[in-house]
Amino acid sequence: MSPIGIFGGTFDPIHYGHLRTAFEMLQALRFAAVHFVPSGDPPHRGRTYAPASLRLEMVRAAVANEACFIVDDCEIKRAGPSYSVDTLAAMRRQYPTASLSLIVGMDAFLGLTSWYRWEEILNFAHIVVAHRPGWRAPDIGPLGKLISEHGTHRIDDLHEELCGRIYIHAVTQLEISSTEIRDLVVAGRDPRFLMPDVVRDIILKSHCYQTGESI
Ligand code: ATP
Ligand code: MG
Repeated sequence: MSPIGIFGGTFDPIHYGHLRTAFEMLQALRFAAVHFVPSGDPPHRGRTYAPASLRLEMVRAAVANEACFIVDDCEIKRAGPSYSVDTLAAMRRQYPTASLSLIVGMDAFLGLTSWYRWEEILNFAHIVVAHRPGWRAPDIGPLGKLISEHGTHRIDDLHEELCGRIYIHAVTQLEISSTEIRDLVVAGRDPRFLMPDVVRDIILKSHCYQTGESI
């Protein structure tokens, strides 16, 4: 079965940093598709700004013209906190013979050991880490150990095995974050060209970031 990339996030809102990363991963790692999985109730962040339904709508609008980008609302539909390990276990059941790769930015990867049942993640999927501006791969501590035991430089390993490897991939560095976008909107400035226009339209129409208060 064709390899699948899985890109989770709060996407509050989705922006070109996410989209370009997913697209470069799709092409370079030869995924058949990248599944975008917006989180429901995020256990690490404690809060989101736009409601889940609107974050989902923005992701759907952003990827509508890219056939290889698929939106998966499983975390939003699932009751309780969104744990990646549950999502990956469910995807493994859905795609028992596909190589699955969880795509994370380096900042997210550096927090991996605080994730719920993080040691089990590699039983379900590979982890593919996107180099993000300002972050370096750890070479010490539990993550350094994880990389030395599971790391690979061979893309073929990600295709030949269904799970269990860590691959670090440099992507074009776009210094964009959702936090910055929300701050811009609160300050009354235009977030244009940081995200697709369809996403900007939803932000402007819904006023979802106008106050800077979380929901
Ligand atoms: P926030 O500022 O609210 O934390 P964010 O821009 O970091 O938002 P998230 O939804 O938290 O976006 O991130 C989802 C995933 O995308 C994470 O794995 C994160 O590391 C990655 N990511 C976010 N921004 C970028 C970027 N500019 N380039 C590459 N990866 C990114
Ligand atoms: Mg973030």
